[in-house]
Amino acid sequence: MTAAIIGAGIAGIAASIRLAVRGYSVDVFEANAYPGGKLSSFEQNGYRFDAGPSLFTMPHLVDELFRLAGRNPQDYFEYNRLDETCRYFWDDGTQLTAWADHEAFGREVEAKLGEPAGHLHAHLKDSAQKFDVTEKLFLHRSLHKASTWLNRDALRGYWHLPRLGVFGTMNGANERRFRNPKLVQLFNRYATYNGSDPYQTPALMNIIPHLEYNIGAFFPKEGMIGITNSLVKLAEDLGVRFHYNTRVTEVVTEGNKVVALRLKQGGKTASLPTAHAPGPLQFNVVISNMDVVNTFRKLLPTARQPERILKQPKSSSGLIFYWGIRQTFPQLGLHNIFFSNDYKTEFDYLFHRHELYQDPTIYLNITSKHKPDDAPPGCENWFILLNAPNNTGQDWDAIITEARQNVIRKLSHNLGVDLAPLIETEAILDPRSIEFKTSSSQGALYGNSSNNRFAAFLRHANFSREFDNLYFVGGSVHPGGGIPLCLLSAKIATEMIG
Ligand code: FAD
Repeated sequence: MTAAIIGAGIAGIAASIRLAVRGYSVDVFEANAYPGGKLSSFEQNGYRFDAGPSLFTMPHLVDELFRLAGRNPQDYFEYNRLDETCRYFWDDGTQLTAWADHEAFGREVEAKLGEPAGHLHAHLKDSAQKFDVTEKLFLHRSLHKASTWLNRDALRGYWHLPRLGVFGTMNGANERRFRNPKLVQLFNRYATYNGSDPYQTPALMNIIPHLEYNIGAFFPKEGMIGITNSLVKLAEDLGVRFHYNTRVTEVVTEGNKVVALRLKQGGKTASLPTAHAPGPLQFNVVISNMDVVNTFRKLLPTARQPERILKQPKSSSGLIFYWGIRQTFPQLGLHNIFFSNDYKTEFDYLFHRHELYQDPTIYLNITSKHKPDDAPPGCENWFILLNAPNNTGQDWDAIITEARQNVIRKLSHNLGVDLAPLIETEAILDPRSIEFKTSSSQGALYGNSSNNRFAAFLRHANFSREFDNLYFVGGSVHPGGGIPLCLLSAKIATEMIG
């Protein structure tokens, strides 16, 4: 049996491994010259930067792929659990470290914010309980098959429905839980982990802190790119063929089957027939890891378009500054957040005005803290991410110029330095370039936003209703964006394939 995968994003790579383990002959077609899509990396002037994701959670989902293939995960991929998950900074001088150890974190919130540790412990316990119910129901199964709704886990889920927080907002639940607005802000931040707005997204999204605080935050020894590289190595060891610089331009269909892929390879156009047509390369199954909106609009323009799903509002995007900094900052850790003074207004700008707020929350990731060779001696590699609206044709050049000044001003204030002269190299990624480099509709980081309680049901299924041998994986389809959910999309899709 043969399979073609469109795109070597993390979900496409995972799907290739799962099918190869089952004996499929697998070809992956990737438009870029490199694998990983958003999960890639680059070097510039002696600095190495992970281009996209920086937080690694649920590493067991990566390990699972090595084990499925009968390999020892540590032969391919090593990572460590972090003692501190993030350092938080506010402009009034408040600083707080979120420790992985719950007791230490509890002491920290009591000492720094005057918040009883019990509130924190209750929140993390509630997060674990919500996760336990929803994981089995939503994350490992297709939502689009009757069997998902009729099994024991589902019945248990209905019983717990009122407690899951489907009806209120994340911010509402956090305001009821915590006294100190800074802690509300800290836990509201988790809405951004799937590109949503804490003032709109359901309280159910309070499951997200469970990943970081209860399961843990991790750092791959080789940086985030280690995830991509080790899985590509595994796939290749299993016989998967990766074709880079090869863009799929059309999925050719006949009746209810995909019959061929049309490709553009190094400027030349080629057509690779599937099992249903004669020719050198034959595919029984096609999996698209391309964003589902663009799969339909660009590769299947004459097929029935699931408009309601494709037109759902997209998640936020990001504006990223990659800076080589010629100084080290002992007060900073691997993950750092510098909060906006007005979080509500910041999200109003992002999701209603589709603009960047002038006092943005700044996420600063420095992998050279754990992997010193990522920067020259005495220097640090700064990855600065601002939540940004998705691309609706804004004047991004003007936005970037203003945001850069705002970031330098805020960080200079918080760190007590003049930051601008310390930047010795720079690269920038914005919603336009995210869209261009990975085909993500509107440059969204996580597909659709989860700003309403029906969002989970308005992501596309992992299979096509029209074509029997077409499947979908990745951050734009069920169960959602982020590395762990993309890995699960590959599991759900490939388990449906006979
Ligand atoms: P993508 O990464 O979207 O890749 C799709 C691939 O398909 C691309 O390589 C593209 O070139 C290829 N492709 C598309 N169309 C075609 C075609 N027609 N022919 C051939 N190839 C094609 N997640 C986390 O878990 N933790 C984080 O900390 C985190 N931070 C993030 C920060 C940033 C700046 C970004 C951009 C994302 C972040 N994410 C994070 C989200 C995470 O990166 C994504 O959810 C995930 O990597 C998406 O993987 P995917 O499988 O959907 O494929």
